Amino acid sequence: MTELDVLWEPVRIGHVRTRNRIYLPAHQPTFAPAEYGAYLAERARGGVGMIVTHGFHVHENSARAGVSPWEPHWADTVHKFVTPAKALGCPVFVQLTHMGASGTRRTDEMALWGSVLAPSAIPSPVHRAMPKPMEEEDIATVIEGFAATAANVQAGGGDGVEIHGSHGYLLSNFLSPYWNRRDDAWGGDTARRARLAVEIGKAVRKRCGPDFVIGIKLSLDEYMGEAGTHPGETVHVAQILERERLFDYVCLSHTDYHTNHKLVPPASSGETAQLAVNAKQVREALAGRIPLLIQGAVRELNTAAQIVQRGQSDLVGLVRAHIADPEIVNKARGGRSDEIRRCVGANQGCWRRLGTNLSCTVNPAAGRELTVGITVVKPAATPRKLLVIGGGPGGLKFADTAASLGHHVTVWERDTRLGGQVRYAGKLPDYASWNFLVDDLEASLRRRNVDIRLNTEATADAVAAFGADEVVVATGARWQTSGFSTFRTDRDAIPRADGAQVLDPIAALDNIETCGAKVLIVDDNGDYLPVGLARLLAASGREVTVVTSDAMNGRKMEATLDWPWVMPRAAQAGVGLRTSTFVERIETDQVELRNSLSGATERIAADTVVLCMMRESEAGLYHQLKARGLQVRQVGDCVAPREVDDAVLEGFREAHAIA
Ligand code: SF4
Repeated sequence: MTELDVLWEPVRIGHVRTRNRIYLPAHQPTFAPAEYGAYLAERARGGVGMIVTHGFHVHENSARAGVSPWEPHWADTVHKFVTPAKALGCPVFVQLTHMGASGTRRTDEMALWGSVLAPSAIPSPVHRAMPKPMEEEDIATVIEGFAATAANVQAGGGDGVEIHGSHGYLLSNFLSPYWNRRDDAWGGDTARRARLAVEIGKAVRKRCGPDFVIGIKLSLDEYMGEAGTHPGETVHVAQILERERLFDYVCLSHTDYHTNHKLVPPASSGETAQLAVNAKQVREALAGRIPLLIQGAVRELNTAAQIVQRGQSDLVGLVRAHIADPEIVNKARGGRSDEIRRCVGANQGCWRRLGTNLSCTVNPAAGRELTVGITVVKPAATPRKLLVIGGGPGGLKFADTAASLGHHVTVWERDTRLGGQVRYAGKLPDYASWNFLVDDLEASLRRRNVDIRLNTEATADAVAAFGADEVVVATGARWQTSGFSTFRTDRDAIPRADGAQVLDPIAALDNIETCGAKVLIVDDNGDYLPVGLARLLAASGREVTVVTSDAMNGRKMEATLDWPWVMPRAAQAGVGLRTSTFVERIETDQVELRNSLSGATERIAADTVVLCMMRESEAGLYHQLKARGLQVRQVGDCVAPREVDDAVLEGFREAHAIA
């Protein structure tokens, strides 16, 4: 017996029996139907107990142009993406949604430049489109859209539907006292605000019959206190819905677009399973008649097992853990938990690429299952002797992938440990989970008997003498301290950027104790490194200022949802944050700053200046080897400095390209 055994029990949902208590919740990869079917099937093959697809829109006012799930022909599309997972014995429910106030206005001819629809004229804080308060006929059309789309799911072979009533979308707008200001039959007290959910449930049940699963996803908390949906209110809604006997399960999520950063919190947030504590009240409101499902920042199966053992939920959803490792369930059940590839929680590949092409920092096969899925890839016909120069994320991913294909791989790393600049990210406050990437790759390399040689400097002669069939150069990039800024076109560089008190961020991280009492960090980059370094320095008692020529500090962190978590912590730690500011010149113990909006200049004291401005590729060895006529490839930042998920994907692709 293990503590995870509680997870392997099946659960009955309507007429469906799940394979176990772990499910794949709805999330938003944008794929063609066949690719999406392969993506879901990979997780089904990996052992997940049940799947809820991403949300499909039920009405032209909410849908993307060219996609009309409410029309009968869409049943064929459903068949394409549900059948592969179902063929593996995994139930699949299809989520149905209307974006409500959180939608964007469509401007194609089909929607006739319409407005978004919502219960009341309250605009989303993100898209800021003022909705049209829905009239009776608008409401009737949307109810019919849910019923017609559900019928298509049924015709296409789906086991059921999940009605989306969370995240600030239409149904949650109606349920929420913040979004619903109506005083007619669709607003006012809780029962009237819940009426739309009830009417949709009735319409779907009437159309699809008793043997079709209908679930509903509710927001447990919009984090507005009494003004919005809160746990006590959700308990009341659950009681109303349970009495109606329309739904086969309730799923809990949370937030609306005011607090979107809580929906997919990055690891830097420190959040884990935020919904679990208050979920128990909702589960009790369901009186054991129908199961409760919860999700929300559950990254590990141990956490899921604790949630089930405490009676907080019947099933637990893991999204990012399944993106990172589709086999997480089978590995755990098979006693191979140490082989699980852990999500680093950085939101680089998944959330940041929402709406474009899903990828994953630790699992670049995610979204590419049709071509590089677990059962698609075959061992190399001719195993090669491969030498990888550089043990950063790109080189390690190349080595791991190539070894998995049967090649004989050796890695040379000049440092005392593997990881490259990812190890530096792991030193920053709230970023320790970046180490999972390197630790898991290193463990995999050792299982595959890859020859890892640390403290090994690669020269062209040594590489040539090694006699590899192919050499892969993954030598990364370095920070430059020339003071050149692409945002400052009227000069080559910041004067005196070559001073002894000027450091790059890696040198500063390696030598925190040598930094002065007053530190200025120049951020042309916008990611977490400058701000994280500033927090470290501030924690050691130093006075730190971060200046950026951008209109906001840490702009890149918006896309990964880190910004709302880490920037307040930096400000509260006393880090000075300045925007629209250039460094005019560096002097011995001060710098001159210019505000690009007002033109005003000022001098501030700084005995250490850290330039987080540009990185440049370390590609010299690659070019030397190429000039010698060796068979050589390059991956990662030595091609061009980019993000970690770019380097990992490149390492993965190049390994598959070995003939
Ligand atoms: S991209 Fe990052 S956060 Fe998203 S699933 Fe992969 S490892 Fe996790």
